[in-house]
Amino acid sequence: MIWAKTQIGAGATAARLWTFAPWFFPYIPRRKMSLPADYHMHSPLCRHATGEPEDYARQAVAARLTEIGFSDHAPMRQDNFDQWRMNAAQLDEYVEKVQKARAAFPRLVIRLGLEVDFMPGQEAWIAELAGRHPWDYFIGSVHYVSDDWAVDDPQKLSEWNSRDPFDVWRIYFTRLTMAAESKLFDIIGHADLPKKFGHRPAQDCRPLYAKFLDAAAASGCAIELNTAGLRKDCKEIYPNRTLLEMAFERNVAITFGSDAHAPDEVGKNFDEAVALARSAGYRVCRRMARRQSRLVEF
Ligand SMILES: [Zn+2]
Ligand SMILES: [Zn+2]
Repeated sequence: MIWAKTQIGAGATAARLWTFAPWFFPYIPRRKMSLPADYHMHSPLCRHATGEPEDYARQAVAARLTEIGFSDHAPMRQDNFDQWRMNAAQLDEYVEKVQKARAAFPRLVIRLGLEVDFMPGQEAWIAELAGRHPWDYFIGSVHYVSDDWAVDDPQKLSEWNSRDPFDVWRIYFTRLTMAAESKLFDIIGHADLPKKFGHRPAQDCRPLYAKFLDAAAASGCAIELNTAGLRKDCKEIYPNRTLLEMAFERNVAITFGSDAHAPDEVGKNFDEAVALARSAGYRVCRRMARRQSRLVEF
């Protein structure tokens, strides 16, 4: 298998052909599909997750996953920017923790990633982080729609009282589009995060999705199916079906993530995420190594 920056197109076509194959070649046994890799999990260094990477790895083996990846919240250039990420000086410790899990579970593929906040003006810092360790991938996430408000912060839930949801969506997707265009990320995280607490605009958001997904398709970054939304008030996987179907139309690749902040969340609700992805048309997802991607069936 050659590792390369791949587009989904060829794989999707192959998957479509495979769907019809049994009609023409009924003797071909269908290959047993494995669960997708879980590429979104945290560590205690971010100050709001529990369990060591080894505990997450142990759970992954129990859940019959063959590949996982850690993506803890990356530090900001300025430590104590907020209370839910590691300091820059802890980056080495984070990498050591992941390497320790690799040594303890040699048969499980464990990737090294980061969930990096995208904010306009942070590009140079993100590029600097990219050079510090042999990362397998960066998930680019927008949490902040202004310098001091992260839309998913439960401590700032009251901020929503004075906000027009569509206005929040507009700013959020403008930033998400910039993140996709930046080429700093391999995967865009939880692409409709503002729905977390159940707020939803009445307006048609498809033009916002289209602009973001056109940027993702042009730059070649994937989006993730993030099952954490099922555990929040919105009770829905990130992103919603409409956005996912629009992504498939544009050949935007996908990855899967539980966004686990505790070991028992590893691989959680992956059956639902797989069903959603397949119903949107997807048959392949990306796997990452050293910031190169390849497509595998799921
Ligand atoms: Zn996030
Ligand atoms: Zn996360």
